[in-house]
Amino acid sequence: MANLPLRLPNHFRSFSVTASSTNGIPFNTPKSGGPVILEIPLEKIRRPLMRTRANDQEKVKDLMASIREIGLQEPIDVLEVDGVYYGFSGCHRYEAHQRLGFPTIRCKIRKGTKETLRHHLR
Ligand code: ADP
Repeated sequence: MANLPLRLPNHFRSFSVTASSTNGIPFNTPKSGGPVILEIPLEKIRRPLMRTRANDQEKVKDLMASIREIGLQEPIDVLEVDGVYYGFSGCHRYEAHQRLGFPTIRCKIRKGTKETLRHHLR
């Protein structure tokens, strides 16, 4: 059997594959335990400080327009403790997603302990 060289156009020679999960279960967890980027349903992210801090509604409106046009450029930071997601920042991006009616938001997830969580709640 002859070995024929595979000839591909230049734009096929290098490509990358990215994947995301819609159920919040990371399937690309790095061995180093570093942060993972995932799309997570909004209702799965607990926001313990939401009622105590009001968002700037002008910022939220500007973000809604921008996210609608160019998408979320910077994921929000989320802490995962015992399988539960907690968000303490990214409040304007989170509200912009809520008001746009998006079911999920792209998150940078770091694992933490109960002690880390207590530290955030102080
Ligand atoms: P938040 O409470 O969400 O952090 P800020 O107003 O403090 O709100 O910051 C907005 C953040 O949103 C910035 O870090 C900016 O880089 C990020 N961002 C992500 N996607 C967009 C976008 N499409 N348009 C504008 N800012 C964006």
